[in-house]
This record gives sequence, C-alpha cells and structure tokens, in this order.
Amino acid sequence: YDTAALKQLDTAHHLHPFTDHALLRQRGGARVMVRGDGIYLWDSDGRKIIDGMSGLWCVNVGYGRTGIADAVYAQMQALPFYNSFFNTTNVPAVLLAEQLAQLAPPKFGHVFFTSSGSEANDTVVRMVRRYWDLMEQPQRQVIISRRNAYHGSTMAAASLGGMAGMHAQGGLPIPGIVHIGQPSYAEAGQGMSEAEFGIKAAGWLEEQILELGAGQVAAFIGEPVQGAGGVIIPPPTYWPEIQRICDKYGILLVSDEVICGFGRLGRWFGCELMGFQPDLIAFAKGVTSGYVPLGGVLVSARVAEVLVERGGDFNHGFTYSGHPVACAAALENIRILREEKLVEKVAAETGPHLKAAFAGLALHPLVGQAETCALVAALDLVRVKRGSVHANERFAAKDAVGMICRGHMFDNGVIMRAVGDRMIVAPPLVITRQQIDEMAERIWACLDLTLNDLKA
Ligand code: PLP
Repeated sequence: YDTAALKQLDTAHHLHPFTDHALLRQRGGARVMVRGDGIYLWDSDGRKIIDGMSGLWCVNVGYGRTGIADAVYAQMQALPFYNSFFNTTNVPAVLLAEQLAQLAPPKFGHVFFTSSGSEANDTVVRMVRRYWDLMEQPQRQVIISRRNAYHGSTMAAASLGGMAGMHAQGGLPIPGIVHIGQPSYAEAGQGMSEAEFGIKAAGWLEEQILELGAGQVAAFIGEPVQGAGGVIIPPPTYWPEIQRICDKYGILLVSDEVICGFGRLGRWFGCELMGFQPDLIAFAKGVTSGYVPLGGVLVSARVAEVLVERGGDFNHGFTYSGHPVACAAALENIRILREEKLVEKVAAETGPHLKAAFAGLALHPLVGQAETCALVAALDLVRVKRGSVHANERFAAKDAVGMICRGHMFDNGVIMRAVGDRMIVAPPLVITRQQIDEMAERIWACLDLTLNDLKA
C-alpha cells in the first residue's frame, strides 16, 4: 500500500469516532497503524511506538498473540457463526460462560453476552428495569450514575455516562438517569483528608436517593476507577460506603468493569480491589484483549434468581450474543492471562513499578502530581507547582497543554491519552519493568519538550 494514498482515502471516506475531521484534514490525515508486538506498535512510516494505552484500554495480553489468531481460525473453520437465541448454544459460548462464572466474585453464576461495552451497559439498563418489574416494584426506574463517567456511546450507555459534551449532542440523557458528582479528591476534597472525602462523595448518592425517594431508585452504576473520565481513583473509603448506602435502600449496585476487569487493577475484577460486591458487572475490552469484539453482563444470584425463576422471556439480545469466534478468542485470552499469571504480576510487580516510575515523573517541573492504581496512571500538568494538589496552579483550558504534550508523545514514540491536562497511561499487562522504565524516560523527555514550547 501507499501511505499517502491511504491517508487520502481515509480522509475522503472514513468518519472516525470522537474526531474533529476538519482538524484531522489540517494535520494531513490519520496515522496508519500496521503491526503490533507486545507493547509496541508500528505505523506505516515504520515508526516503533510504545502503546501506553493498550489500544483503547483493552489489549491486555499485548499484540501479536498467534495463539488467539489460531483459536479464532480453528473456530471459524468449525463453526463461524450460530446464534444463542431460541434454545440454541455453541461450544465456546458455554465454556466461556463457565470460565467467567469461575473467575467472577462468588455470587456470580450467569452471564449475558454482547459485542461491546456499550451494549453491555444498555443490557444493564433493561435488565435492571426488568428485575424491578418482576419484583413488582415497577416504579423503581431511576439509575444513578456519575458526572463525567463514560459508559459507552449508544443512547442508553451515553445517557448513563456523564459527559456534558456527549449529552449536548442528541438530546441526552434519556429519561430515568441522573448523575451525582465523581469522587475526585483534587476537584472537591479541599480542606479534608482523602478518607473523609471518600465518605462525603459517597454521601452524594444518599442525598440523591432521598431527593428522588428511595422507592423510585433502581440502581447505581460506576467504574471502580473511572477511566476515560480522567483516571479518577476514589479514596479507599468510597466504595464500601457506596455499598452500605445501596444495601440500606435495597438498590442494585452495578460495576462497570469494561476497563477495570481482566487484570487492569491487579485483580480479575476491579470491585475486588475496591472492596465492594456488585449485583451486576458489565465487561468488554480485556475479555478478548480487543482481538475480537465481545462484551457482556455478569449476573449475580440476586438478579439471576429473579430473571430465571420468575422471568419468562427476557425480550432482549443481539445477533452476536455468544458469538462462537469471539468466545473462542476470549477463552484463549483468559488462558494466556492465567498461564502467564499476568493479573498477579500487575499486583505484585508491574503495578508497584509503574507507581515508582510515576513518582519519579512527578519530580518534573511541569507535573503537579502523579496518581496510579495498579496498571493505570496519570500525571497532572500544572502551570505553577506548589507541592499540594489543591494549591497547584492549573493552566487555562485554552492553552491546551495536554494536547501539546500528547503531540510530543506521539511524535516521540509513546501513546498517552490527554484528558484536559491530565496525561494517562494504561499499558498492556505484559509490560516489563524495563519497558516501564523505557516508557518513563520517553515521557520525561516529552515533558521537557512541552515545557520548552511553553517558554518559547
Ligand atoms: N464502559 C467503560 C468504562 C468504557 O471505558 C467503555 C469504552 O471505553 C465502554 C463502557 C464502552 O465500551 P465499547 O466502546 O466497547 O462500547
């Protein structure tokens, strides 16, 4: 292929998600990725890049796994597709359902398959409402979520999400979804300890429940660590208090584990690290490491008993629910995660090493603070550093310092995400300590380049 021609065709015909196309054209089109191996990507100009974001937080076992390709090929030859509607099933879907029931926290025995995290969260909305109908409390309709959350891009998932920029397009949120504040200590914890702030932020849930009337509330949904919203790591007091409040009012608790599941936080599911026991778990991404689209909802006994025993038909499902090829990819992906003990490695080795590396980066004059949780990490770029998160002076939004920094990273071979001026990494779980050091060195050099730009 000819890269210039490809870029031209891409610009002419391809509408990209979350992309300003006028800006893309100005920049000469999109970068074309052609190959991957481990934590590295190569673009069409032959540049080798550290993928600090695991694609979109999903390539947990790293690129270039021929075992997954082989499993997919074998399944495609045996049975490329059959549905799981109307009393049929297929071998990989059954085996995967059983594996997931084993891996999930103890109360979970059932799974409903989708092809994406958005579909998983749409399924959550319908399942939660179905549950309360069957419980003969149909007035329990409202799902409480959090401002700045990202739960996907379908109408219901984007409504569960709390991103103002998404709500502004398409008349969202749909009725029956309300949002409370996110547990960001930097944003709202001034004057109190982190532990105190965790209790306070969870208290916003109780305030909202009381305002709506507890009998109207169906569920609360949140990510253990909010990812796309800017790696918001809640204080340890937050989730146990959320659990206590949900239990007090009988409200279903939903953990969106689309990012946090499958090892990202050094546990199979993030709720295990954060100390809460949800009733439903939405998953996607890491279940196949992104090699083939797959998602789903893990269903605990509390909900499964009602859906199965009293349910009748649940009039919901996707052509590709339990897709045999996707499930075969997931089985091999999970086998790799287990065989290479990648989840344990994040907890014991690479997570702590990333924490130390980011503590080093926090010494850079442009960095106000670093925060990490296992294999996700963030750096806040600040105009004036005063030694505490609430005293640091931030840049104006119009300075777009995060975007400048992200550009330098991209040009110098490391992919980081910028959420405002917060620079984020979530590398593949296969990253080694040496590769973390290599990534941190490149990040430091790009912080220098960003600082030079600001001085110029
Ligand atoms: N939930 C969370 C927490 C996510 O981060 C995402 C995607 O980034 C989604 C849901 C949506 O998943 P998908 O893009 O597979 O629809």
